[in-house]
Amino acid sequence: MSDAPDQPVTQASPAPRRSRQARVVWGERVVTVGGDAPVRVQSMTNTDTVDVIGTAIQVKELAIAGSEMVRITVNTPEAADAVPAIREQLDRMGIDVPLIGDFHYNGHRLLSEHPACAEALSKYRINPGNVGKGEKRDRQFGQMIEAACRWNKPVRIGVNWGSLDQELLAQMMDDNSRRAQPWDAKQVMYQALIQSALQSAQAAREMGMDPNQIIISCKVSGVQDLISVYQGLAERCDYPLHLGLTEAGMGTKGTVASATALSVLLQQGIGDTIRVSLTPQPGEARTQEVVIALEILQALGLRHFNPSVTACPGCGRTTSTTFQELAKEIDDFLRAQMPVWRGQYAGVENLKVAVMGCIVNGPGESKHADIGISLPGTGEAPAAPVFIDGEKALTLRGDNIAAEFHAIVENYIRQRFGHAA
Ligand code: SF4
Repeated sequence: MSDAPDQPVTQASPAPRRSRQARVVWGERVVTVGGDAPVRVQSMTNTDTVDVIGTAIQVKELAIAGSEMVRITVNTPEAADAVPAIREQLDRMGIDVPLIGDFHYNGHRLLSEHPACAEALSKYRINPGNVGKGEKRDRQFGQMIEAACRWNKPVRIGVNWGSLDQELLAQMMDDNSRRAQPWDAKQVMYQALIQSALQSAQAAREMGMDPNQIIISCKVSGVQDLISVYQGLAERCDYPLHLGLTEAGMGTKGTVASATALSVLLQQGIGDTIRVSLTPQPGEARTQEVVIALEILQALGLRHFNPSVTACPGCGRTTSTTFQELAKEIDDFLRAQMPVWRGQYAGVENLKVAVMGCIVNGPGESKHADIGISLPGTGEAPAAPVFIDGEKALTLRGDNIAAEFHAIVENYIRQRFGHAA
């Protein structure tokens, strides 16, 4: 035993954020980013923007999945012309999610020459590494900021490791070589990413942009690099920060890398909006990146979107897959019902359900949940006690346990949350 004083263990929770607050607006819909706003979830389409219907449908799917802003590529005059048509289509479908235009190389021209596009977008993403070189760079960046000021739109100054301003980096490398104790090349890179973003933000402010209309991101593809850069960024500015691990990859690798990097930063109070940049596996829905982003925020206790299902992993004490099937069925059922329940049952997203595999942890974990079931493990009596609000309420037996538990959960939701609606 250590000599630690007899004090309660401090409960971990995300540190408070201290950023300014930007507003991303479409019609009546206002998505606040930063300040005391919840950490926002955003995503990006992978359709050809010229395909108005295909893009509008994907934006709708992403919005319904929980994306609070959706970014679309605006890379050609045809794509710029498609933007107001996509917006109109979404409005007709009753989807008011703000659209963000993603610009590279020619954003200054597209925003100036396609005013309907500039107006239909709710925010512009500007990559300072891709706005031109030399003398053209400042002029073209200025044109984009002018458009943002004219249309009263916020911007995200989004620096990316893969397209960092090479002139700035070369200059900083030169300066570094003259230091008495030169920094590590990676540290110069971190500094260059941060400076590129903050110098651009400062330039935008000098052109008249309201600092509350500026959001910053500096995306890299390594977990420790992302943590380093954002910690540095958070120390140096109070702009709202958009977090995301760029090119996170596919499947489990991309999911784990994104969740790891984002969770560390969010726990430190860094990050006001997130995107999980997942490469979809063949046949996988684009909405998967939104599902993961919501799960990250919910796991950290930053936001609640869906009821949570606690399920044990199973072990040698479970010889059948019954409890796995039941856990999945309940989870699928809760998710499928949520779009309807959200409007019907206020607070239902805070529900906790436990589906456990045997008597070892089953009753205990079930008592911690609002409603829980402890299924019989190998050799246990074929009975499944159900716990409601911490008390054993009844025991299910026979072949119909899944369906009966399903009905019990539904009934519980109706009784507990029906009155609060
Ligand atoms: S609750 Fe039982 S079945 Fe589930 S992991 Fe623990 S010991 Fe194994």
